[in-house]
Amino acid sequence: MKTILVTGGAGFIGSHLCKKLFEQGNKIICLDNFFTGSKKNVELMLADKNFKLVEHDIIEPFFTEEKIDQIYNLACPASPVHYQYDAIRTVKANTIGVINMLGLAKSHGARILQASTSEVYGDPAEHPQKESYWGNVNTIGPRACYDEGKRVAETLFFDYHRKHGLEIRVARIFNTYGENMAENDGRVVSNFITQALLNNDITIYGNGSQTRSFCYVSDLVNGLIKLMDKQGFIGPINLGNPVESTIKEIAEKIIIQTGSKSKLVYRPLPQDDPKQRRPDITLAKEKLNWQPEIKFEDGLKKTIDYFKKIIA
Ligand code: NAD
Ligand code: UDP
Repeated sequence: MKTILVTGGAGFIGSHLCKKLFEQGNKIICLDNFFTGSKKNVELMLADKNFKLVEHDIIEPFFTEEKIDQIYNLACPASPVHYQYDAIRTVKANTIGVINMLGLAKSHGARILQASTSEVYGDPAEHPQKESYWGNVNTIGPRACYDEGKRVAETLFFDYHRKHGLEIRVARIFNTYGENMAENDGRVVSNFITQALLNNDITIYGNGSQTRSFCYVSDLVNGLIKLMDKQGFIGPINLGNPVESTIKEIAEKIIIQTGSKSKLVYRPLPQDDPKQRRPDITLAKEKLNWQPEIKFEDGLKKTIDYFKKIIA
């Protein structure tokens, strides 16, 4: 049994990660400031002595007597709407917060994994994106608090590794979807499903020709755990589903699968919105023997069923 700290553990991905690690027989400390996460996402584990939920902001240092073996650092709002709400706080989470968690890992001799992102590639000029690509990010735009924040977080991880020999892992996560996404999350899959279920207009930003590649959350969580437990490989490594779709295709699939009467409406494309995104996962296949298994239609069905209950 390991003691594992998951920051952002009450959020979308964090709650699935906590559940899986908990089911594997580990002791979980779930740390969250509940900015976008919710106690409800982890409520089934709350009564167990091997699950501890701590309200804490990683921008403040965290101390514990309990010996921590592993840290998954997920604490950061991930939806553009939420990370831009207080951009300076987003930068703080990815700098001061990350330094706090790296310091904690150092003092416990723990291995630490960073939830990095495909946003480090910005609006990519190379397609699909390989880990060797350095990216194309606007340093002063509205997405920079997140993109540059996540880039400097990777830098900090590698500097702690070089200077202090810290055991690090860096996962570059591509668009992920599934149950426990917040209804007001603002990201495309949750927005479109909610709109479709309510027969409201489906809001396509731009002309809908921009692409993303969507990974179901259970696949992603398996990849994160494989990376954490892999000996001798620190990353960075892409984790995502290489099946690429336009945003318009996603809207059409959601209309069909929900049987919705919604119409597509077009809204201005947000500034610096990446035009294309697809992970090259050759490295994940090679190093982790990992690739996504859940088809979009199947993951979408589970996600739609979840939102049906939430909306009801
Ligand atoms: P989310 O917003 O649902 O989860 C983030 C969690 O972190 C929430 O529970 C929130 O309350 C918490 N949090 C935010 N700031 C905090 C702080 N300063 N201190 C403590 N807790 C804080 O988002 P998610 O989709 O679950 O993303 C989790 C991580 O994965 C994030 O770091 C995100 O950048 C990364 N990621 C996600 C995706 C994706 O498609 N979901 C893609 C790339 C990277
Ligand atoms: N998007 C959209 N309508 C929405 C929400 C998002 O057309 O209601 C678009 C958005 O402009 C982007 C894509 O969907 O091109 C994915 O957006 P999301 O916020 O989910 O993630 P990210 O841009 O960070 O990949």
